Amino acid sequence: MSKSSVAAPATLKTVGYGSNSAQSPLAPFSFERREPGPRDIQIEILYCGVCHSDLHTVRNEWQNTIYPCVPGHEIVGRVTAVGNQVKTFKAGDVAAVGCMVDSCRSCASCRDGLEQYCEVGFVGTYNGEDKHLGGVTYGGYSDKIVVDQDFVLRVPANLDLAATSPLLCAGITTYSPLRHWKVGKGQRVGIVGLGGLGHMGIKLAHAMGAEVVLFTTSPNKKEDAQRLGANEVVVSKNQNEMERQLNRFDFILDTVSAPHNVDAFLQLLKRDGTLCMVGASPEPFPVPVFSLIMKRRQFAGSLIGGIAETQEMLDFCGKHGITSDIEIIPIQQINQAYERMLKSDVKYRFVIDMASLKG
Ligand SMILES: [Zn+2]
Ligand SMILES: [Zn+2]
Repeated sequence: MSKSSVAAPATLKTVGYGSNSAQSPLAPFSFERREPGPRDIQIEILYCGVCHSDLHTVRNEWQNTIYPCVPGHEIVGRVTAVGNQVKTFKAGDVAAVGCMVDSCRSCASCRDGLEQYCEVGFVGTYNGEDKHLGGVTYGGYSDKIVVDQDFVLRVPANLDLAATSPLLCAGITTYSPLRHWKVGKGQRVGIVGLGGLGHMGIKLAHAMGAEVVLFTTSPNKKEDAQRLGANEVVVSKNQNEMERQLNRFDFILDTVSAPHNVDAFLQLLKRDGTLCMVGASPEPFPVPVFSLIMKRRQFAGSLIGGIAETQEMLDFCGKHGITSDIEIIPIQQINQAYERMLKSDVKYRFVIDMASLKG
């Protein structure tokens, strides 16, 4: 080899499921990951949760998908190798990876530990810019992943690994706003929608000591919501039930990812109350300004959480014995799982058992 030639980086053959276009289903796909560098951790993926963002991205519903696309950002696995500068993990440890695998690390948000708001954009676990190999990052619907140690999380020993994986997105997405708006004892908190996000919102707000009210369009979800920790369940299509809730809430977390009547929920806030969106509707919808002005109410949004806060959330869940309610599937059923997810036919998160990749 001549001096001037640049050696191609060493790579690891990786198998997973990916899609080649917005119209094509997920199918077996092989690709390369980097060999772990000095600060990297290589993880054998055991479980990966199925997030609604996976489906939005695979189908290019946010119009930013780079194909081929390997989704998955609710990853729990076992460390198989570490770089020589890694002190915090060793081979055999359980490790988790969420929605981010890197960020600029120098902007104001990164310095504040809020990498999710990185001012040049965090590196997504999938559909992000791969700074090491070039091209796009590939996510957790695969047998292994290599991640910088600063973006790898610890799982409390008492938690079930499969049921922990959805905490990495659904858990932190609901935990971060509940913490930011200081939800706790003596507060009345609403959760809108009982899906993957909503069911975590109920469990977490309940564990934080708040009085929790679930808003749902389906009366048949009442019992389940109470089992998850809701003190009350309100059918949002029922005008009488909604009127009884006017001006009673300190905070409402809205997990619905489609356009809907947010004014119906703004009206339920007390003075200075906040309605925070975490459902990511691709379509805009109207927000009546008078509902905000009249009681100094706030209409807000929140995106996942930083790495330190994600670890705090996992530790909180360990302390309170909280995991997600899940249905485990082999990866061969992922396309059917997407169809069921669109019909809200899952309680409350699909998790892929990655051992099925070898089957
Ligand atoms: Zn997600
Ligand atoms: Zn940054």
